[in-house]
Amino acid sequence: MDADIFGIHSLHVHVIFARKSRRRESWRAEPFPEHWQRIVERRVAIFARLPAADQQELLGHARVLLEEKHFEGGPGLVMRDEVRVTIAAQAALLLLHRDTDYFPRLTSIIVYPTGYVAHESAAHEGGIWTEGDESLLGHTQRDLRALVLSWDDVRAGAADPDDGHNLVLHEFAHQLDFEDGYTDGTPALDTGAQVQSWAHVLGEELEALRRAADAGDPTLLDPYGAEDPAEFFAVATETFFERAVELRQRHPGLYGELQRFYRQDPAAWGTAAR
Ligand SMILES: [Zn+2]
Repeated sequence: MDADIFGIHSLHVHVIFARKSRRRESWRAEPFPEHWQRIVERRVAIFARLPAADQQELLGHARVLLEEKHFEGGPGLVMRDEVRVTIAAQAALLLLHRDTDYFPRLTSIIVYPTGYVAHESAAHEGGIWTEGDESLLGHTQRDLRALVLSWDDVRAGAADPDDGHNLVLHEFAHQLDFEDGYTDGTPALDTGAQVQSWAHVLGEELEALRRAADAGDPTLLDPYGAEDPAEFFAVATETFFERAVELRQRHPGLYGELQRFYRQDPAAWGTAAR
C-alpha cells in the first residue's frame, strides 16, 4: 500500500532527525573542554560581555559546530584547536536563543594563514561572494558548501569587539541568509508580518547607506553593505554585535529588526566594561 510506504519513509526520516537532535543535545550537555574554553576567553573578546547563561549556551553551540563541521587548513596553515575554536565560538554567537539547524548548508571551513588572492575573482555570479577586491579576506560559496577564511582576519576580528568589523560574523550571517534557499539579505523569519517589516526597514536603510556612500558621507555601517541586500545584512550583523549602542541610537529601526531576529540585545551587554 502506498500509504504504508509513505508512512515508513516518513518514520525513517523522523528517526534520523531525532537521532541527530539527541546527539546534538548530548554534545551541548557535556562540559566544554577547559583548554577550549581558555582559547575562547583569550581570543574571542566579545565572549566576556555575554550574560553567563548565554556564555554557556554559546559554548554548547560551538561544541556542536566543532563536532559536525569539517575544519581544514589551506596551504600554509596546519589546522589546530586555536583556529577552529576561535571560529566556532564566534559563529555560535549567531545561534543563541533560536531553534537552529547549525548552518545546514555548510560542510567545510577552510582557513588560510593570511588574506589570500582569489582565483575566482571574476565569478561574482552563481552564489559566490567575494569580499574585498583582489586580496580576499573570506568568501562563502553557497553551492560548494564551503567557507574560506583567513586566520589573520579571523583573529583580528575576534580581538577587537568594538570596531564593527568581524569576518566570522559576516560570513556566517551569509550562511543564515542561505538557509531559506534565497540569498537576498533576508534570513528565515518567523512570520509574514516580520518578513514585511524586515523588507521595509532594511530596504530603506540600504537606500540610505547607498545615498551616503555616493555622497561620501561618513556612515556607521561599512559602505560595503551598499553593494546588495545580502552584503547589507552581513555588514549590519557585524555592526549589531560590535557597535550595538551606536546602532541602536542612530538606526533604531534596523537595530529592532536585528534584535528580533537574533533574539539578543547586545547594546545592553556588559556596559560597565565599555
Ligand atoms: Zn559578504
